[in-house]
Parts: sequence; C-alpha cells; structure tokens
Amino acid sequence: MKKFANLKSIEQWFNEPTSLPLIIAGPCSVESYEQVIQTAEKLSNIPQVKIFRAGVWKPRTNPNDFEGVGNIAIEWLSEIKQKFNLSIAVEVLSPKHVELCLSKNIDILWLGTRTVSNPFSVQQIADALKGTDAIVLVKNPLNPDLKLWIGAIERIYKSGITKLAAVHRGFYPFEPTNLRNIPKWEITIDLRTQFSNLPIICDPSHIAGHTRYISMIAQKAMDLCYDGLMIESHINPKEALSDSKQQLTPSELLLLLKRLIICNNKNIGEQIELLKLREKIDSIDMQLLELLHYRMEIVKELSTLKKQHQLPILQLERWREIIHSRLKKAKELNMNTDFIKALLEIIHLEAIRIQSEKESKD
Ligand code: PEP
Ligand code: MN
Repeated sequence: MKKFANLKSIEQWFNEPTSLPLIIAGPCSVESYEQVIQTAEKLSNIPQVKIFRAGVWKPRTNPNDFEGVGNIAIEWLSEIKQKFNLSIAVEVLSPKHVELCLSKNIDILWLGTRTVSNPFSVQQIADALKGTDAIVLVKNPLNPDLKLWIGAIERIYKSGITKLAAVHRGFYPFEPTNLRNIPKWEITIDLRTQFSNLPIICDPSHIAGHTRYISMIAQKAMDLCYDGLMIESHINPKEALSDSKQQLTPSELLLLLKRLIICNNKNIGEQIELLKLREKIDSIDMQLLELLHYRMEIVKELSTLKKQHQLPILQLERWREIIHSRLKKAKELNMNTDFIKALLEIIHLEAIRIQSEKESKD
C-alpha cells in the first residue's frame, strides 16, 4: 500500500473552503501582548492570510538570547483566534506544549528544524498527538537528510495524524553564503515524487535570513507549485527580539503577496523539467567561468615569458590564427560565427588588458 495513503489535502484541513497557496504569517516570536495583537490586527486585513504563526517557546543557539515568553502567549493567541478570525500555528517542542496548545484550541502545531533533527523528541511529540485531529507541519531537519525528514513525518503519521504537511526552511550552510539556510529544491522534488499527496509549504524567511531575498525565494516556491508559504511578519521588525533582519512588516508582506505569480498546478511536470534544465545551465555557466579563469591565469604566465623574450603583447599573426581556427570550429558546431567572433574579441581584449596591467606592475 502507498505510504501516507490516508493523508488529507489542505482543502480538507478546515471546515471552511481553503484556497491555495495557504499563507501562514506572523512574528518569529510572541514578545508582548501589544506586539502580537497589533501584528495580528494588521495581518488579518490581508485577505490571503488565514493563519497566524508565532513562536512561543524558542529553541535558541545561545542561552542568553530571547527564548520566548512561554505559556502566557497561548492565552494571547487564543484571544487573537477569536478576535480576528485567524487560525493559529505554534511550534511545539515537547508533549507538554502539545497538550497545552490542544487544550486551548491552537489549530496547527509545527515541529521545528532542531526538533526534527532528534527522532526521540519527534517520537515523544507523536505519542502526545495520538488520538487527536491536530494539523501538524514538519520542518526539514538541519542537515539535508531526506530520510530523517521522512522518518519524522512517518512518526507523526503513524500516530494517526492525517492533516500533515512538510515545510522546507532550508539547510544549514557549511560555507559562507548570502542566504541564512540553503534551499535544496531538488530534495523537496524528491519528497514530492515519493509522496505525491503530501502537501509542501516553503518558509522563505528562514531560508533568506534577510528581507531582501524573501520574495525571490517565495516566487521560486510558487514556480515549483508549493502548496503554501510560511512568512515571518512583525509590526516593528527593527525592534524584534528574534530574527529581526528577516521579518517583513505587514504592508511589505501585502506587497509581496500581490506580486507573487501563483503556480497553476497543472503545470507541475513542466515546472520540474524547467528546473532541471535551469540547473544544467547553472552548472555549465559555472564551468565556463572556471575555464575563463584558468585561461586568464595562463595569459599571465604567457605575459611573463613574452617579457623575458622581449616579444610584443599583441602578435597579429597569432590573433588571426586564433580567429580562423575558432570560427572553423564554430561552423562545424553550427553556431553563429558573428556571436563567436564577438565573444573571442572580448576575451582577447581582456587578455591584453591583463598583460598590460602585469607589464606596468613588473
Ligand atoms: C521559526 O519558525 O521561528 C523557527 C524557529 O524555525 P526553524 O525551526 O525553521 O529554525
Ligand atoms: Mn524565526
């Protein structure tokens, strides 16, 4: 039998009709009653936002950082649910959190990256969820380990949860990068190929780490026909006690949602083909750059030799020979020779520039 066969689609999660993509928005953390009420009020005016997210217990790297206000926040979130007619999503890290959230009618519980990285914690939460009708989101683990992610989803599923989705929030980068966490779109394509009925949501905020990259990542998720987005939004991001650089104001979020081009689910196959071709092009461009770099390094060596033998930088005979042989090859490859000639000229100009610069330095 197909794995996760009993999963419900997002449209079946709520009693009222739900349109896709599902938009979950709210602050990284609940910080105070005012902050959370004001943020929720603004977000409730954005028609696409149906779910308010907020961290109540924050698993922080450093113990001196803000670790959330704890249980009292659940009271404030229950008030928001009533007042603004928003569903509420909260991260749970222990069976106690599950019990408290469910007793206060919190709609969606999510397992954060750090929890998902520990199967023992996931199992404890799965046990606490047994016999309930909770909606559960499972973020990806810190490392790009698809089996560990699927394992966590399976633990929750085996406890009888059928309203379940995966959340892609990127993976820990081992090399310095502009993004806070590296998106691995190919891993999520693999996940969806294996479990076509498992909804998938993107969290562009934790991938980006900075507001400037969020719309680009959100659009990429839409291009891949993700089912939803979880985006951090704060009434006053500059003053936020956690993740201040990546939180959008509610009006910035509204603008982002307006500009988003939503995927037509029928095109998913084409989108994936498109992504595969783009990945090939990316890889070829990187190889072209490496080769150009290598070529210019050789030009530098050549420049030293030319100087030793008192030869001029520009040797017309050699240049004619280069043009002739390369254009012959271009013709064989059925390529546009005007394009190749222009390309060779620009490479040659750069080679001359490098040699002249080197000469004036030596
Ligand atoms: C969060 O969503 O605020 C959070 C802590 O996310 P993650 O588990 O992805 O780091
Ligand atoms: Mn956060």
